[in-house]
Amino acid sequence: MPAVDTIVAVATPPGEGGIGIVRLSGPQAVACLGKVFRSKITSPAEMECRRLYLGHLVNGRDELVDEVMAVIMRGPRSYTGEDVVEVHCHGGAQILRSILDLFLEQGANMAGPGEFTQRAFLHGRLDLAQAEAVIEVIRARSARACRVAAAQLDGCLSREIYRFSGKIKEALALLEAHIDFPDDEVGELDLVTLLDPLHRVAEEMRVLAASFDLGRVLRDGINVLILGRPNVGKSSLMNAILGESRAIVTEVAGTTRDTLEEQLVLAGFPVRLIDAAGVRDTEDPVEIEGVKRARDKASSADLVLLVIDGSVALNDEDRLALELCHPEKTLIVINKSDQAQQCDTAGLAGFEHRVAVSAKYNQGLAELGEAIVRHLAEDSSLAGNEGVIITERRHRDALLNGIVALDRLFASTVSAAPRECLAMDLREALGALGRITGETTPDEILEQIFSRFCIGK
Ligand code: GDP
Repeated sequence: MPAVDTIVAVATPPGEGGIGIVRLSGPQAVACLGKVFRSKITSPAEMECRRLYLGHLVNGRDELVDEVMAVIMRGPRSYTGEDVVEVHCHGGAQILRSILDLFLEQGANMAGPGEFTQRAFLHGRLDLAQAEAVIEVIRARSARACRVAAAQLDGCLSREIYRFSGKIKEALALLEAHIDFPDDEVGELDLVTLLDPLHRVAEEMRVLAASFDLGRVLRDGINVLILGRPNVGKSSLMNAILGESRAIVTEVAGTTRDTLEEQLVLAGFPVRLIDAAGVRDTEDPVEIEGVKRARDKASSADLVLLVIDGSVALNDEDRLALELCHPEKTLIVINKSDQAQQCDTAGLAGFEHRVAVSAKYNQGLAELGEAIVRHLAEDSSLAGNEGVIITERRHRDALLNGIVALDRLFASTVSAAPRECLAMDLREALGALGRITGETTPDEILEQIFSRFCIGK
């Protein structure tokens, strides 16, 4: 095995902050600290584990670099499983850069993205599903997404996967006994005993794979598009929903030409709210492009809020906007409910989900919020589920591969295929599950996973 180097990185985000943290991991981490840290209390070699020590970092000329707190966490009981050092310094870009340089001069190497967590995985401190959850916790865009990621980091998903693979291993052991020894020695193979637990596992794997529909929404959020002809009040609605005035409200028709996006959280789901360009049948090239984009966005959005002006009759531009939308993922927002209503709802036939609001006077917004959440809940039958949820497509695909192998085994038992074939299917299912926890994940996939991480994690 090649000698392991000692890595160093800034663990806190760029910019100014009260505290910045530089982190080292590897066999030379404590020695590197020893060369640059001066404390009245003790020398780094004698520092107690997991205790913060106040001291000075000094450069090669013994000049003060910063007053810091340093802590060492000796392997194997550390995040990476190696000796880890953290230096808590002042949180400025230059001071962090100087401290990083100091450790690079002592022989540490710059850590790659996710290298600390990769080392934790390689040393068995975390399995792969847990390691992936680290970045999910960091990137979570809603409290609910964060809870799901934290549960995965805590091993919730991994325990499910190990439970499935445990059952499959039991079946494989039973089968192998009947392959290795004649039936008159180990008794007749009882297919019910073999298959019953596997049917249950396959069903549970199916449910877990299906939770990806919700997991994807929790992780990536949903795109809600605000669509409608000019002047119906789209920008006003966006502002009203956000409670701030970032979109420009204007009296002139056709001025909201570019899409504006805002992020918010609705019922625990991250939502990207997009104000599309006004939909209008026009020769203006800018607007034609806008309409084209609106059409594309309407088809890719998870939900369209189609705004119409309730104070006037529907016109051709409204009908054009309606044509762009799929009724099942469209919520009609009848705006300007503060004015006398002229809108002929017969023209909205086929679009069953409707809410009346006044964006200008903040009326009906609670009902609108509820209608959006209802749509989300309908969209995913698991909306209230806080159990084990998968958020990675990779995990879903591995589960589906495992299910395919088990289904093949079920079919083979009907056709009385040789036992070796059944054992092969079981091994394939185990291999698929192992790709989730990392036992059987190819190196290039591991590289890909950790390259998505930030440096210092
Ligand atoms: P957009 O072109 O669809 O984005 O429409 P705007 O949000 O720019 O609004 C167009 C006009 O309608 C502005 O004069 C708004 O003040 C007005 N407006 C928007 N919502 C309401 C509403 O609920 N009631 C009334 N009375 N006027 C509104």
